Amino acid sequence: MAKKKTIITAAVTGAWPKKENNPNVPMTPSEIADDVYACWKAGAAIAHLHMRDDEGNGTMSTEKFTETWDLIHSRYPDCDIVLNLTTSGDIHADDEIRVAHVKKLKPEMASYDCGSMNWLNSGLFINSPKFLEECGLLFQELNVKPEIEAFDPGMIANAAYYLKKGVLKAPLHFQFCMGCANGIPGSIKNLLFMKETMEQLCPGSTWSCFGVGHSAMEILYGAVALGGHIRVGMEDNVMYAKGVLADSNAQFVERAARVIREYGNDVATPAEAREILGLKG
Ligand code: ZN
Repeated sequence: MAKKKTIITAAVTGAWPKKENNPNVPMTPSEIADDVYACWKAGAAIAHLHMRDDEGNGTMSTEKFTETWDLIHSRYPDCDIVLNLTTSGDIHADDEIRVAHVKKLKPEMASYDCGSMNWLNSGLFINSPKFLEECGLLFQELNVKPEIEAFDPGMIANAAYYLKKGVLKAPLHFQFCMGCANGIPGSIKNLLFMKETMEQLCPGSTWSCFGVGHSAMEILYGAVALGGHIRVGMEDNVMYAKGVLADSNAQFVERAARVIREYGNDVATPAEAREILGLKG
């Protein structure tokens, strides 16, 4: 029997960690492009991309996304990794700018955060009903697969609502975001609950997950054991282990690939990920 394929997503930079948190966090389009390539070499099938402005803060600048997109394609023409662009890289960006790069670049995937919440106990992460409706319909029009980020089970219920309304189209693909401040804590028990909630409300969906900070390894092993997919990278963790800064994003991907293979699964190639997720390719 063919082995089960597990997809690794590399989230290489996110919006918050800076060089002072870990000097190996990529910040510029050039650094991000190089890290995406290294992660692809190590087994990542999907790259989840955020951008930074010249001060290193998260930005939804279409120019930065375009520059990085072009660099990945021109510098590494053999790299067939799926690009998954964030729509949530700056909590101050308005709804229009949050999808401007998606309209321009028409990626295979983009993130879709299915509800609002406090963010890192310091700000508001707003995904209004209006934004979610417009965004879902836009993604359908452009054939962009939404990666539905759920920070708690209520966001899965929201996705079920938008599925019923026709804003989202089955089969859905979820990213369970575990262990973030203000979201569901990262544990196997909670991961199982997220999975079961998804199966009950949105049957036939696929899922991936990640654990921020100290829950990273528990969630990595849980994802593989429970039949999901996994996301790793410096967006979620700047520490490789307790007291040890990560050397690179590829280091996280290499570890995830080892866990997947030791478990008895195969690491999905980008072509296999496209098939599993039904991407336009
Ligand atoms: Zn992200």
